[in-house]
Amino acid sequence: MVPAGQWAGWRESDTAVPGRAGAGRALDSLVVSLTLGIVGLPNVGKSTLFNALTRNDVLAANYPFATIEPNVGVVPLPDDRLDRLAELFHAERTVPATVSFVDIAGIVKGASEGAGLGNKFLANIREANAICQVIRVFDDPDVVHVDGRIDPTSDIETINTELILADLQTLDKALPRLEKEARTRKESRPALENAQRAKEILDSGETLFSAGKDVDTELLRELSLLTTKPFLYVFNADEGVLTDDARREELAKLVAPADAVFLDAKVEAELLELDDEESVRELLESVGQPEPGLYALARAGFHTLGLQTYLTAGPKEARAWTIPQGATAPQAAGVIHTDFERNFIKAEVVSYADLVEAGSLVAARSAGKVRMEGKDYVMADGDVVEFRHGTTSKSKG
Ligand code: GDP
Repeated sequence: MVPAGQWAGWRESDTAVPGRAGAGRALDSLVVSLTLGIVGLPNVGKSTLFNALTRNDVLAANYPFATIEPNVGVVPLPDDRLDRLAELFHAERTVPATVSFVDIAGIVKGASEGAGLGNKFLANIREANAICQVIRVFDDPDVVHVDGRIDPTSDIETINTELILADLQTLDKALPRLEKEARTRKESRPALENAQRAKEILDSGETLFSAGKDVDTELLRELSLLTTKPFLYVFNADEGVLTDDARREELAKLVAPADAVFLDAKVEAELLELDDEESVRELLESVGQPEPGLYALARAGFHTLGLQTYLTAGPKEARAWTIPQGATAPQAAGVIHTDFERNFIKAEVVSYADLVEAGSLVAARSAGKVRMEGKDYVMADGDVVEFRHGTTSKSKG
């Protein structure tokens, strides 16, 4: 999950849609601005995957005024609950939450010293909130592997090493300053000690994210270290691996506790070319997959970023809104409109499961399943909400 410190910018209006330029204010609060940066060795299938990520029309359909940079792919978070809600409320349309992926140049050995795209790569990755690492496990003699063989463990190590080396460079530059500050200001000592601890961890070959509680990433925030970011691993596999449960388990273990997603990037790209459900089902079956890999990727991306959704429904639309895990009711209201947060009075909340069981909001109310929550309420995933706020008596999202 994204370290708490990174939430500071989670509703920065100017970057609400990554890369969006000059869109109207109405859009500002619509999309939480967190992104996953796609990294990996050359020829692992990053571009193929990224093309699949950008070839969906969710954004065009739901955010017509948003302009997206060519290196940003926005995918919908699959959510069956929205269709059910739309039925219950006779909503005209459904609007899913989205997850944004940024295409970052390939990384090669020596990137931390400027090899390949070196510094540009590092600058791009610094801006991402989480790292989505693509690893090749597909076997294809026609596609050259940069290190000559398919070896996920070694690929993961290569990338980790480059990120670790880049962080060590940053720390080596910062430590003399931190030492000086700590000498003159006692309050600066924890920051220094923490940076020294981070250096030890990196020297031992571990990323700061996997070191978890051993370092206080909050205190390291100003340094924008790369390995404090949460990781998500995408194994770009062929049918042989996709249908081999034991192999998948072995690979997932390799990266645990980070999320692992298994997909065939080439198949994902082909799926988007198909327009009838039957062909989609057949192609998925041919690689032993129950659903498109992009679905799993969107869910894992959302999870890695530490996000969750709440739902609103009315005759206009059934909609999923993105909030950080742990957000309170007023913060959740603020995602719809900043005024809703400022003038928050209370939230009428029912869990999706209770609502569906009751069959309607009225029935859920009479069954006592609808709660009035105040400003300290911490949102749960799948809460169906109607906010009451000061400017008008009530609002539907
Ligand atoms: P990148 O350098 O990581 O961006 O890799 P590309 O996406 O350009 O892919 C490199 C080559 O591998 C291309 O020829 C792709 O068609 C091929 N490729 C990508 N994904 C797969 C896959 O899942 N299976 C197979 N067989 N080939 C793939």
